[in-house]
Amino acid sequence: MKKIAVFPGSFDPFTLGHYAIVNKALPLFDSIILAIGVNSSKTYFFPLQKRMEALQTLFKNNLKIKVENYEGLTVNFCQKVKAQFILRGLRTAADFEFERTIANMNFEMNNTIETVFFIAEPKHSGISSTVVREILKHKGNVTKFLPKNYPII
Ligand code: ADP
Repeated sequence: MKKIAVFPGSFDPFTLGHYAIVNKALPLFDSIILAIGVNSSKTYFFPLQKRMEALQTLFKNNLKIKVENYEGLTVNFCQKVKAQFILRGLRTAADFEFERTIANMNFEMNNTIETVFFIAEPKHSGISSTVVREILKHKGNVTKFLPKNYPII
């Protein structure tokens, strides 16, 4: 059976921290779906279409990676695309506490989907999409925090 993982997130924008998680996960899975979660009551900095295009451009040469978006529960999306794993990154103890509740509840809902965690390297643990957005709002330079040639900035 093919090992399929979903990496869910807002990716608003997709940072060097997210990029490192994908690269760490690549050798472990046959396919990784970068899944942009759409929450209709949330407002985003970059429109969904721009975030999708950015990821498609970034990974256009990697056949193992697909880019999709979904609404609703992540576990339902995983079932739809036949993924057995969810990928998440951990930067801090606060991330861990938040993520473990969600991972446990996701597992309880279906008893099959395991969440796999990657610890952020120290050089990435201070990078957050929220702070990148804040810098962008004030016209600062964020290239240091984004993958090289990230297309939407
Ligand atoms: P969400 O809105 O689901 O939290 P994010 O795009 O903010 O989506 O994050 C998606 C995942 O990436 C989360 O597991 C988050 O902890 C992780 N992540 C975010 N920034 C980093 C980083 N700098 N290093 C490692 N993991 C990160």
